[in-house]
Amino acid sequence: MGRYTGPVCRLCRREGTQLYLKGHRCYKSSCNLDSPPGMHNWRKGKLSEFGKRLREKQKVKRYYGIYEKQFKNYFNQATRQQGNTGENLLVLLERRLDNVVCRGQFTHTRASARQLITHGHLLINGKKVDIPSYLVKVGDVIEVKKKESSKNIVVRNIENPTPAAVPSWLEVDKETPSIKVAQLPNRDEIQIEIQDQMIVEFCSR
Ligand code: SF4
Repeated sequence: MGRYTGPVCRLCRREGTQLYLKGHRCYKSSCNLDSPPGMHNWRKGKLSEFGKRLREKQKVKRYYGIYEKQFKNYFNQATRQQGNTGENLLVLLERRLDNVVCRGQFTHTRASARQLITHGHLLINGKKVDIPSYLVKVGDVIEVKKKESSKNIVVRNIENPTPAAVPSWLEVDKETPSIKVAQLPNRDEIQIEIQDQMIVEFCSR
């Protein structure tokens, strides 16, 4: 299935929580989360246990903007790693380049981060990388190409940041501008609440 291109606020309403898909607007009173759902979105009754776990998985996919197949690959990778599978999964997703670019405030949404990356505006450790799913490593430095048009986009966003805090595992230099991955992502600094155990239960059934 292709990427969802409809109104993104609908995704937040479906999951019943803010997924921060619209940049600045998500932090204002104009956030559409509480708008009454259209009649087709109306759902009565309580969710089953299966339904709750499914929604938790969908929430993560929508927050990071990934396809089902990609999600399965991340989950399989997480199960092969040592430690807690749910945490491994979230750390892998946080390490995606589009997430890092967004959390470092180079862009205000993951969707615009993907565009910035695929249009070839970014360098990692001096080399062009145009793959949004690239997994950053400790010590990686993400910079903008020297081209003025590339810099302008990022400088505009950095000078007008969203209220979202830059996580402690990223060091942002606003002058260069650059983002350094100082350590692996910290599970506690993920912007939305995620019950990763429910996702593991859903995927392991
Ligand atoms: Fe829309 Fe952002 Fe609010 Fe979600 S958090 S409903 S994307 S404005």
